[in-house]
Amino acid sequence: MAIDLDKCTGCGACAIACAQENNMPIFEDDSDIPKRVSFLELMKVTNDRDAKYPDVEVCYIPKMCQQCEGNDPKNPKPPCVSVCPVVATDVGDDGIVSQVWSRCIGCRYCQASCPYEARAFNWWKPRYEGDFKNSLNPEVSIASRGTVVKCQFCSHIWKRERDRAVENGVLDINAVTYTPACVASCPTKAFVFGDLNDPDSELCRLLEKEKDRKFRLVHTIDEKDEKTREKLMHIKNFPNPKVYYLTSKAWIREMMRFK
Ligand code: SF4
Ligand code: SF4
Repeated sequence: MAIDLDKCTGCGACAIACAQENNMPIFEDDSDIPKRVSFLELMKVTNDRDAKYPDVEVCYIPKMCQQCEGNDPKNPKPPCVSVCPVVATDVGDDGIVSQVWSRCIGCRYCQASCPYEARAFNWWKPRYEGDFKNSLNPEVSIASRGTVVKCQFCSHIWKRERDRAVENGVLDINAVTYTPACVASCPTKAFVFGDLNDPDSELCRLLEKEKDRKFRLVHTIDEKDEKTREKLMHIKNFPNPKVYYLTSKAWIREMMRFK
């Protein structure tokens, strides 16, 4: 996935669509923030917190699971997967880091090992006020209290599209395309979703074209020389995220670096 921060206006449509699509609990009284569980956070960052108009610049960064690949694309091992004692989280045929709510025992090892704080723990029994009960998505199970959840790039939609394709005689799962809820809902088309293994996909062509604007969250390896990159790739729990961000603002790229 690529997210163009120059196009993101911070409207939050992606976060709302994500919550609706994935049956996030909705509380009438939203003053108790720990009760909230969300897969997609819209982070607001400024160039300098003391800056005043007209020198202040603002950027919104939609942050969800970065779909880490680890250091071996043939055997992807994101930091969260290797620590799960009950294989509640794994990498599926579709390349998505999945999470099976009902298998999770809530030990939170995965949450501790995720470098992007992309996982959320359900401290509370999920509750849906008023009419929200009638609009739950039957394709996504409701996670119970005491389990860890995270974004799965709406892989239930991929499974639905795959089953449709099979019904129509298409057996090549790589041919199945779909659009996650956040991507579909963005009014400025800031998200581009596609197959990183296909050099002809819109996503790969965009990343190739926008080499100077692209970066990954707190992932400095891209800027290192080949020898250092090779060395860093073998560190334990190397994340290698598959979500790329695009920006023309140098201060954002600088801010996202480990110093
Ligand atoms: S919290 Fe759940 S998914 Fe995470 S490591 Fe423990 S059992 Fe696995
Ligand atoms: S961002 Fe976190 S939850 Fe997502 S794959 Fe990477 S380590 Fe796992």
